[in-house]
Amino acid sequence: MRQRALALVTASTATAVVAGLLVAAPGTPATAAAAAAPQDRREPPKVATVVGTGGAVSSVDPDASRVGLRVLKKGGNAVDAAVATAAALGVTEPFSAGIGGGGYLVYYDAASGKVRTIDGRETAPAAMKKNAFIDPKTGEPYPFTPDLVTSGVSVGVPGTPATWKRALDKWGTWSLAKTLKPAATLARRGFVVDRTFRTQTRDNRERFRTFTSTKRLFLQDGLPRVGSVFRNPDLAATYDLLARRGVGALYRGVLADEIVEAVRRPPVSGLTDLPVPPGSMVAADLAAYDALGRRPTKVSYRGVDIYGIRPSSSGGSTVGEALNILERFNLSTATDVQALHLYLEAGALAFADRGEYVGDPRFTQVPLRHLLGQTYADERSCLVNPATAAAKPVPPGDVTAYDGTCGAPATREPDDRADTEGVSTTNLTVADKDGNVVEYTLTIEQTGGSGIVVPGRGFILNNELTDFTTEYEAGDPNRIQPGKRPRSSMAPTLVLRDGKPLLALGSPGGSTIITTVLQILLNRLDLGMTLPAALAAPRVSPRNTATVLAEQAFLDQYEALLEAMGHQLAPVGDPGTSAAEIGAATAIEFGPGGVMTVVAEPNRRGGGSARVVDPQG
Ligand code: GLU
Repeated sequence: MRQRALALVTASTATAVVAGLLVAAPGTPATAAAAAAPQDRREPPKVATVVGTGGAVSSVDPDASRVGLRVLKKGGNAVDAAVATAAALGVTEPFSAGIGGGGYLVYYDAASGKVRTIDGRETAPAAMKKNAFIDPKTGEPYPFTPDLVTSGVSVGVPGTPATWKRALDKWGTWSLAKTLKPAATLARRGFVVDRTFRTQTRDNRERFRTFTSTKRLFLQDGLPRVGSVFRNPDLAATYDLLARRGVGALYRGVLADEIVEAVRRPPVSGLTDLPVPPGSMVAADLAAYDALGRRPTKVSYRGVDIYGIRPSSSGGSTVGEALNILERFNLSTATDVQALHLYLEAGALAFADRGEYVGDPRFTQVPLRHLLGQTYADERSCLVNPATAAAKPVPPGDVTAYDGTCGAPATREPDDRADTEGVSTTNLTVADKDGNVVEYTLTIEQTGGSGIVVPGRGFILNNELTDFTTEYEAGDPNRIQPGKRPRSSMAPTLVLRDGKPLLALGSPGGSTIITTVLQILLNRLDLGMTLPAALAAPRVSPRNTATVLAEQAFLDQYEALLEAMGHQLAPVGDPGTSAAEIGAATAIEFGPGGVMTVVAEPNRRGGGSARVVDPQG
């Protein structure tokens, strides 16, 4: 029994904000802020949207995109350029990503037409205890921020170096050494500090002062000045080491021992009162690390195929399930408010299942086939009333009892565990002239990760293990277990039409990553927005919470209309801070004749940088 499709209404007002395909998204280029400040050297220009052929890169940072573009121009393929761009982001975005962290990469191979992924998620040490996040003094969990996140106990075995190696070995054409060289040069010569870098340093001042190594690197003369040049020769030397000896140099030997030391005996300065609980990582944990080759998740949605990341990330399954739920409704003819209502409901239902079922598949049986099946989604969509919001949190469905029809759907208890994910991370999109595509999201979890710089090595260790549920509960798929990967939300996504790339997209933002990817897909595929407009549009993040967080611009436009349907909305973060933004995404759309529309955020996180080898027009 199928639920009635949503009644057809007038054209979406969302489309009214959309200009032509080639028009840059609204907002001024983010160079304005830096240009107004005293400059020792100029930042490369930032352009949010470019159109052209011959290969392209989009990232949040102009230096990183420039590095990736150069690799493409010198004959490197999309994988070579993606690793080079990621390594450059480790220099210029060291609080969001780097070799001390992890991530997930999706690759489209033009020659075979296949989509492959790499799970480069950080991993819990073998000796991690289930009560690792409980303060022995109080018997209660450590306060999450800043206490628990600023710790050795939150550091997982890094996956990023192994991800780069696996990607290059399998699909690249350049050596690791050649690929890392531009980033090492960037670290050595330095980059121009922008407002985002300064703000992120300021926001982390207390955490960074806690460690001698971190204070020395990032707070040398107080806060870095906007327009000054920031150099990281230690990181340049670390990249040189990996170039000479391979990424094995991080997983075994002196550098591995230094990582272990920093985790077990963090280099505390004594300048703050943060408790800095130590971790249990040992050399064998690093030596045992592997970035895993995985098949992608796949759902079909309105005639296109959407590929994503399977667990240990919840990205692919949650985006996929929500799309399958939405597929039952005719969004192209809905008003934007009706479409948004359905998106809010579908997001909540998919998030309920994410909490109930998704964890590291090596430790918990994830019913992925059910979660991504249309029959299950059809039954879940029976719970969506086209006119009224359901009370949140909604309960998860029962994957052991469903038949795709409406009636009395089987559900379980709703999950009211707090979502503790941060809003850090970075994302990049690369395509080459041969049609290979990489979508890559990487992170050190919190902005500023664990706060611990490995002394003398120039990079910060992640605090990814805080993505585990803080308090152990048997049966929770995301409970702490030794050797396990905490559940992620990263969702690098490829959309194929007739086996050929149509869109590649991804975003930072903790669990809002999932909703940002979903909302961009909705905007582009259903609501008729151009890709630049789809990225720029104000965001709302339905994650099955009683109150749904949204950007202020979204609330200004839709709050009253959605509240009239029963949704409860509130602004995300403090006004005027980066916490008030949801997701600095990147994306590429592939058009006829090899023409690509390459898009970065116009405004969020200071605006990103889209580059193309042969610009048009
Ligand atoms: N830890 C997050 C995840 O894996 C990413 C960090 C963030 O974006 O806040 O989903």
